This record gives sequence, structure tokens and C-alpha cells, in this order.
Amino acid sequence: MKRAEIRITGMVQGIGFRPFIYNLARKHSVRGWVLNNEKGVFVDAESDDGNLDQFIQEIPKLAPPLARIETFDVSYLNPLGYTLFEIKKSEETEDKFVLISPDLATCDQCLSELFSPQDFRYRYSFINCTLCGPRFTIIKDIPYDRHKTTMASFTMCPICQKEYDDPANRRFHAQPNACPSCGPSLWLQDREGKEVSGDSLAKTLEFIEAGFIIAIKGLGGFHLACNAKNEEAVSNLRSRKFREDKPFAVMCRDMEEVRNLCEVNREEEKLLADVERPIVILKRKRDSSIAHSVAPHQDTLGVMLPYSPLHHILLNGSLKTLVMTSGNVSDEPIAYRDEEAKNRLGKIADYFLLHNREIHMRCDDSVTRVFEGNPYIIRRSRGYVPFPIKLSFPLEMILACGGELKNTFCLTRGPYAFLSHHIGDLENLETLTSFEEGIEHFKRLFYIEPKAVAYDLHPDYLSAKYALSIPDLPTVGVQHHHAHIVSCMVENRIEGEVIGVAMDGTGFGTDGTIWGGEFLKANLREFVRLAHLKKVPMPGGSMAIKQPWRMAMVCLSEAFGDGLEELKIDLLKRMDSKKWDILKRAIEKKINTPWTSSMGRLFDAISSLLSIRDEVNYEGQAAIELEMIADREIKETYPFYLLKEESPFVIDSTEVIRGVVGDLTEGVSNSKISGKFHRTIARMIVETCEFMRSSESLNRVVLSGGVFQNILLLSLVVEGLKHSSFDVYTHHLVPTNDGGISLGQAVIAHMRLFQM
Ligand code: ZN
Ligand code: ZN
Ligand code: FE
Repeated sequence: MKRAEIRITGMVQGIGFRPFIYNLARKHSVRGWVLNNEKGVFVDAESDDGNLDQFIQEIPKLAPPLARIETFDVSYLNPLGYTLFEIKKSEETEDKFVLISPDLATCDQCLSELFSPQDFRYRYSFINCTLCGPRFTIIKDIPYDRHKTTMASFTMCPICQKEYDDPANRRFHAQPNACPSCGPSLWLQDREGKEVSGDSLAKTLEFIEAGFIIAIKGLGGFHLACNAKNEEAVSNLRSRKFREDKPFAVMCRDMEEVRNLCEVNREEEKLLADVERPIVILKRKRDSSIAHSVAPHQDTLGVMLPYSPLHHILLNGSLKTLVMTSGNVSDEPIAYRDEEAKNRLGKIADYFLLHNREIHMRCDDSVTRVFEGNPYIIRRSRGYVPFPIKLSFPLEMILACGGELKNTFCLTRGPYAFLSHHIGDLENLETLTSFEEGIEHFKRLFYIEPKAVAYDLHPDYLSAKYALSIPDLPTVGVQHHHAHIVSCMVENRIEGEVIGVAMDGTGFGTDGTIWGGEFLKANLREFVRLAHLKKVPMPGGSMAIKQPWRMAMVCLSEAFGDGLEELKIDLLKRMDSKKWDILKRAIEKKINTPWTSSMGRLFDAISSLLSIRDEVNYEGQAAIELEMIADREIKETYPFYLLKEESPFVIDSTEVIRGVVGDLTEGVSNSKISGKFHRTIARMIVETCEFMRSSESLNRVVLSGGVFQNILLLSLVVEGLKHSSFDVYTHHLVPTNDGGISLGQAVIAHMRLFQM
């Protein structure tokens, strides 16, 4: 006889870990008990030697899919002669903090029940178990117990209750457990609120086939759905949603259908099928049958697989691919309450597929892609949140308020950084309210009472204003690009001094100009700006972001002065010279014209110079379309200069503009010019890093900022840096865009205030 005490920490609660242990113990005739306490799962197990060892070995090997075991300690004790194995009541202790699971995609066992006609949950849209189903979006308060979720109003029937109480059952303590006789139900109604009679799922499918747009209440909010292969339906959805070009995500029935539409490699397939079920951006096949309006001017497609029972049912018939886009109008947050959805989506959707399980926290779909075989997260939300980023050292409790666009906030507690779900662009009241409610919710869920608040230096950001309005807490203003770099450092668990390359659209600099082409010598506490892209005026401020032609004209004027009027390029033929005269005057008189060193604006300028995009209708569009057409085989570059005598030293791209114009005049193709431009920027970054290495003796380069969503540029930069023997760090857990900066802010604030 042998007895072992096993202590397991990490994400091991609320995900079916105890029933798993219970069943494993029975399999190996192990006796003793298991319980949850504030530290994790605690097992006391005894058996004859061979069985006990096997039991212990199989725990990490066979653990439920979402379990993340952080520590696993075994110590051996004297046997006590237990006669059975039981699940003990959870220990109540002072510290009630536990990790909370994200919402999980329907598991295989639930799926097979869902489609077995004999099963009492046959085609039941709310089937779930401890391995799958809603979590984060239904939790109102902790501890995570049914009566504190939006399932509280449903009383379990005797069959569900029996499963819930049976330690050997997959639904033991599955808080959202339900069946058709006791759980939530669906109905379909028209815009006027009149219920459509008949089978609501069959009717929904019929309407989608007929080209209608349906608002579908899902896990973390409403989707707007229509047939992705029906051009008329998709373009209708576009015009009603006031969304000109920004691509829609699609949901495919299965991997086979994904392969029909897109090129997909093994890592991408794995990411698509992961329990988080994110949207994965894939290369679209030329002959794909997807409607043109799904993703105009793009050669990629955002694809996801079904993740809720309802999705599986909808895609189990003749429909193979649905457009599934967030239920909102342009930039508002995703609708998640019935009344709100009816009001806000009433002019977009023809019908509403609703249910009576309330969504407590809205949570958008996550967006990812694969870079060098690893996930590269663009929007970290459903499926990932509220699982924390684990840091290599503990932090004081800090609230970091993030940026403006793609806002997330971050709350820290010990070694955990709870990066919030995607809040959205903090530009309207709706989003601000969602931001404030989200912060309060996270504070409550994880027992966090912040000791300090971190914010972005931009004086106009609503997140910064919110931070500064909190009474009685020390505040720390963090420079935008320093936050980008530190967020990448902490997810890679590195400390000390690094070369931080922040290639970005907009970030407020310490000198009051707009930064975005920055080379920093940085550590977790502070930074020095060592180099940056040459500053240019940005006439009209934010209008220059919406209208890349302004940046193109500014760049031409920098490169050619008044000689620009003689240039034989299409941009000047399109240009209304009066408009440019007005801008010139604004620049001279310094009216609404900030200066910027932004790399994002340089990409915009080139995009307009090549007649790809003079105006954008979503963030980053000009650069995305420039990347798309680039010839990847081009090896040439344009000349550029590093003005090393200045401090910080300046990277002058005037020659790049002259080169591009020269090629344009000679009739070189856009695709070649774009390829050459991407190579040039990569070369520029590598050479600047090489110079910094020689002057600062630093060999680690950290890449962050929204421009690195450009995968072509990212690959060229990583390749060039590695070739030059740098250690290169990129993002993989948090976004390289502004969705990641709150993490960096929190760490910097901690270092400045609490780490002496
Ligand atoms: Zn399940
Ligand atoms: Zn039931
Ligand atoms: Fe940024």
C-alpha cells in the first residue's frame, strides 16, 4: 500500500477536473478523496503501488482539454486505509480567489449526443457539460455557482439534477446544465417582434437560404448571419450595417469546407479546431465560392468553425458557410441584450433568433492568424478571456486602462495579468459604459482592489480621462510605445534592457508629437528614444489618417518641394489642387497639423501614391491593401539614410519616396514597388538595430505595434534580424496592436511605484 498527497495548481477548477479525478481514481482502484481549495485541487490517494503510480502519471496526461496545470506536487505519506474515493466539499477559506474559465466550444461527447435521435438532448441548442459550454459570459458573481449565473432562473429537472449531483457524471457540477424540459429555449421573431410559428431552427435555415439576414443571439453577443455564398444577401448586409469594405468573418461547417475555400496548413487547422475556436485569417483560394462582398479587395478570409450547439445545428444541413459578423452598427460594441439588439439591429436584420439565457458579459469572437507556426493573436477575446497571462514575477494590484482603439484594460493580481476581452474603440458612450462595467466586473470576479492606475499619455483618450478621474489612487502615465514593447517583453518573460522596435499608427510622444516609427532602449520601467522615423506634418490630424492622400502629398512635398507639380503620376492627376493649397496653408500656419514619425502613415502615403487607396473606410485599410499586392520575390530596396549625428537619430525616408515616384514614372508595376517598399522598411529596421547594437551593446530586439499586423513586413524583419544574429521577440499571446498595451502599462506602473 502507498499513499500520496497531490497538489495541483493552475486552471483546474470549473472545468470538470474533480469528476475527471474521481473517474480516474475508480479506473485504478484508488481510494481517498479530492477537493477544491483556494490554491487549486487537492487529492489524497491511496492504492497498491502500481495503480497509484499510473493514476498519478495519467492526471496531467489525460486532464480535461482546458486544464492548465501550473504546478503538480506529489508527496508520499503513511497509508490510512481509505475504503472509497469521494469528492469532498470545497474548503471555504479566507482567500476566495480562483481562476475563471473562458467560454468553451462544444465538446465531442456533447456533439455526439446533440445528433443522436435517441438522446433526450437531441438537437438541443443549449447542451453542455463540464468540458464545454458558456462560462465567462454567464457569470454574474463568484463563487462560480449556478445561482450566481444567468442560469439561476432555470430549475433543473430531476434528470439534469441527477447528472449534476453524480460525481461520476460528465455533468457533475456543470453549472449551465440543462435539457429541453428544464433549460433555455429558442424562438424566432420578425422585426416587429411577431413570433414566427413552426420549428424556429428550420425556419431560420429556410430564411437564410432565401437570402434574409438573421440576428442570432449567441454566446457573447449577437451575430448577424446570412448565406456567405449569396452575393445579394451579403451586399445587403454591408449596406445596412454601413460597413463599406471591412471584411466579414465566416463560419464553415467543418474543416473540409474550410479547405474548399482557403489554403490552410497544419498549424492553421489546429488553431481553427482549438477549444478557443477563434477566427483564423487564412489565404483565400482564387476560385472560392464565397460572395465577393464578404471581403472586398482582400486575398484573405477570416474563418471560424462552429463553437456552440446552435452553430452545429445550423450548419448541419445544406448550408456550408455563413457570414457571422458582430451584431453592431459600424463601430459600436456588439449587442448582447434582447431589447438593445431589437433597437440597434432592427434596421439590419430581417429576423431575430432569440433565447432566454441572458448574456451577462458581452464578448466578441477572437481573431488570430498563424505566424511561423505559432498563433499570432489580433483580437484576444472569447475563448481566451478571462484566462490570465502568467507573469514571471508577482505584481501589486494595478488597473491599466489601455488605449483608445481596440481597447482592452488589464487588472493584475500576483503573477496574473487579467487582460480584458476586446472592448472596442473608446469613442462613444456605449463603449465607455462597457469599459467601465467590464472593469467593475473583473475587480469583483478576481477580488482585485487596485493600488494604482496606469494610463496612456494621450490627453484626449477617454481611457486616460477615466483613469485620472479615479479618486485617491496614484496614477502612472505610460508612453504608448513603451507600453507596446513591455507588453511583448512580459509575454516572452524577458527582463533587462532591450532594443524595442515599435512600428505603429498613432501614439502620443513625450514631446507632444505623434510617434509611431520608434526605436527605444527599454526595460520594464523606463526607456530612451534612440531613433525614429523623420517627422512630417499630418495636416488635419485624424483626417490625415482617414485620407492617406494627404500623407502622400506631404511626402511628395518633402521629397520634391514645389517641383512636385511637374511629376507625371496619377495621384497628381486625381488631386484637386485647391484641396492641396488649403492643406499647404494649414501646414504653414500650423493649424490642426500635428507632426508625426508614424510608420503607419508612411505605409498610407505609399498606398495612395500607388493609387491603391486615397481614403480608407476602416483602420489600416490602405496598408492592408498595399501588403496584399506586394511581390514577395523582389530583393531590391530603395535608398534611405540614417542621420546618426542627431540625437535621437533620424531615419530619413525621403529617398524612398523619390525612388517610388521614379519607378512609377517608369511604369514599374505596383506589385513590384510594394514588394520593394516592404523590403526597404525591413532593411531600415535591421540596419537601425545593427547601429544600436554597436552603440548600446544590446542584442535582443522586441517587435511590437500595430504595423506588425503586416505579416509580410514582420517576416522580412524577423528574417533579417535573425540573419544578423539578433535574438528576436514577437507577440504570440497578446495582440501587437493597441489591444495589447494595457498589459505593458500595468507592468510599467508596478515597476515605477512598487519595485524599488
Ligand atoms: Zn460537453
Ligand atoms: Zn433537465
Ligand atoms: Fe499603438
